[in-house]
Amino acid sequence: MSLQADLKRITDTRFCLSCGACSYICSPDKVAMVDIDHVGLRPQFSDGIAPALIREACAVCPTITSDYGQLKDRDDYVASVDKKTETNWGAITGIWEGYANDEELRFKGSSGGALTAIAQYCLEQLDYHAALHTGEDPDDPIRNKTRLSHTRDELLAAVGSRYSPASVCDGLGGVEAAPKPCVVIGKPVEIAATRNAMALRPALAEKVGVTLSFFCAETPPTKATRRLMAEHGVPEEGLETLRYRGYGWPGYFTTRNAGEAPRQHWIYQRAWAYLQGFRPWSAHLWPDGAGELADISCGDPWYEEPDGENPGFSLIVARTKLGKEIIEGAIAKGYLTATPAETWKLDKSQEGLLRKKGSVWGRRLAHRVMGMPNTRFKGLDLFTPWMALSPKEKLASTVGTLRRILKRGLWKRA
Ligand SMILES: Cc1cc2nc3c(=O)[nH]c(=O)nc-3n(C[C@H](O)[C@H](O)[C@H](O)COP(=O)(O)OP(=O)(O)OC[C@H]3O[C@@H](n4cnc5c(N)ncnc54)[C@H](O)[C@@H]3O)c2cc1C
Ligand code: SF4
Repeated sequence: MSLQADLKRITDTRFCLSCGACSYICSPDKVAMVDIDHVGLRPQFSDGIAPALIREACAVCPTITSDYGQLKDRDDYVASVDKKTETNWGAITGIWEGYANDEELRFKGSSGGALTAIAQYCLEQLDYHAALHTGEDPDDPIRNKTRLSHTRDELLAAVGSRYSPASVCDGLGGVEAAPKPCVVIGKPVEIAATRNAMALRPALAEKVGVTLSFFCAETPPTKATRRLMAEHGVPEEGLETLRYRGYGWPGYFTTRNAGEAPRQHWIYQRAWAYLQGFRPWSAHLWPDGAGELADISCGDPWYEEPDGENPGFSLIVARTKLGKEIIEGAIAKGYLTATPAETWKLDKSQEGLLRKKGSVWGRRLAHRVMGMPNTRFKGLDLFTPWMALSPKEKLASTVGTLRRILKRGLWKRA
């Protein structure tokens, strides 16, 4: 591709998923992540940026290219599941269900606080330097802030799920500069970007100790949170804190404004049903909802209906030898309580994400028909999940997508 074509593609808001890797590669003063209210964080490339940097930004952008064969191709990869499960959910070396032994982490965590407990184990027992992740921006609670957490209390301050734009990879510079290996926690797309960046920058690869992700249907834009607040009459002015869930599983959308007590609004399922309708087009084109490229990925155990009494637990999936060792270490050292889980629990908990993965094959076909670009995926079988869809779903993903592209003028670049 020509340089102009590269720049056009990477700044195309229809494809970007806010990961922030291009900002890390080019440096944040050359590429700022700007919050566009109705789509999410998008990179703003400054004028006169060196052509070599633009090429590197394209090389790390996971929505341009991602290699999904890389974990399965490793010499030390030993699958603990059958081929069908691997096709559906990516590399797997072990599945557990469990929760953080630290009761506060478990209670405040998104499902069972497992991700945070694993990160804490890495910091305290494996001598990792810090964890790169995101959490509520204390100065602007409807937004998120990338941070490096060094202690249990710093990790705890960012526990839980943020259903609003985040760009964890814009903090990879802090990992690269760290004196020791770090934990990187991010959405599936952020871990795909981290893998691309590690391949390009050996100095970063040396400092990424372990990657943690979670099951994720991608983020709605800031506009969605504003609208949800408006539904409940919550003014933006004076907002001091906002959480989407947690404090019990799955928890409630909750806000607190200056001088007021916390206000509990909709339960998570209802709030998410509202928020997800705002997700941008790029979210519907991204097939990895399972953190397939992370060493460890956690999800909600939706195979069980939360009854409000359950303090919460997480499905914990190891994808590499390292991921498995870390989970076993965290259990042995008392950070996690977890027991091996059967594959059906994963399938039953995440049916929606698997259907989405199949639908992406049909959506990509519609893109091709319309002459629109697609992400280049290596080692990713989307056709098999598409074949498992019902005839109605197959039609919706192909013909329905074509209709949406035409109706919304998506073939035109905004
Ligand atoms: C946008 C989004 C979509 C999700 N979709 C699904 C889904 O489809 N199915 C499902 O089972 N679960 C979904 N989840 C929930 C997720 O799977 C749970 O967070 C997971 O079970 C881990 O829970 P935990 O208690 O172990 O994590 P915790 O210990 O609470 O740790 C959560 C970690 O995630 C990080 N984090 C939170 N929000 C973001 C964000 N927006 N971007 C990057 N990092 C973030 C935090 O920094 C923290 O380190 C989603 C979460 C998010 C943020
Ligand atoms: S997906 Fe990530 S790397 Fe690609 S343009 Fe968006 S922020 Fe940059």
